[in-house]
Amino acid sequence: MILRVGGCLCGAVRYESGGEPQFSLQCHCRDCQRQSGAPHVAAVRVPSAAFRIVRGTPKRYIAKADSGNDITRVFCGDCGTPLYVQVSTRPDIVGVRVCTFDDPAGSGPKPTSSPRVPSRGTTWMPRGRDSQPTQRARRTRVNPG
Ligand SMILES: [Zn+2]
Ligand SMILES: [Zn+2]
Repeated sequence: MILRVGGCLCGAVRYESGGEPQFSLQCHCRDCQRQSGAPHVAAVRVPSAAFRIVRGTPKRYIAKADSGNDITRVFCGDCGTPLYVQVSTRPDIVGVRVCTFDDPAGSGPKPTSSPRVPSRGTTWMPRGRDSQPTQRARRTRVNPG
C-alpha cells in the first residue's frame, strides 16, 4: 500500500490517503470551475476508509450536483484550497484534488475519462491534443467534483 499525503496551500490542513486510486478524471463542470477559478481540475477517487485528515479542520460547502445529489466540497478555511469532494450517494469514495498531493505526479493512474468536454468558458484554452479527453464518460450527468 502506498501512503499518499497532501494538504492545502497554507499547511493548516493535512490529509493522508492509503487506498489505491480507483479512477481519475479531469472535471470541467461549472461548479469545479467556479470553486477552483480554473478551466478544469484533476481529481482522483480513493477509498474513504483509508482517507483521513491528520491536521486541522477543513470547512465544508454542500451543493447540489447536476444529478440532484448532495456534493460536499471540502476546503481549507484559512487559505481556501479546495481539497476533496464527497458525493452523498458514494460515501465509500473521496474525490481528491490531485494537485493538493505533495507529489501530484505519483498520485494515481492517468485520467481515463472526462465527464465534460472542455467547452464552456474555455474558448481561450489551447486546443492541443493533450487538452482533449481520451474518452467520454458513460455517466455524463455525474458531477464528481
Ligand atoms: Zn490552508
Ligand atoms: Zn466538477
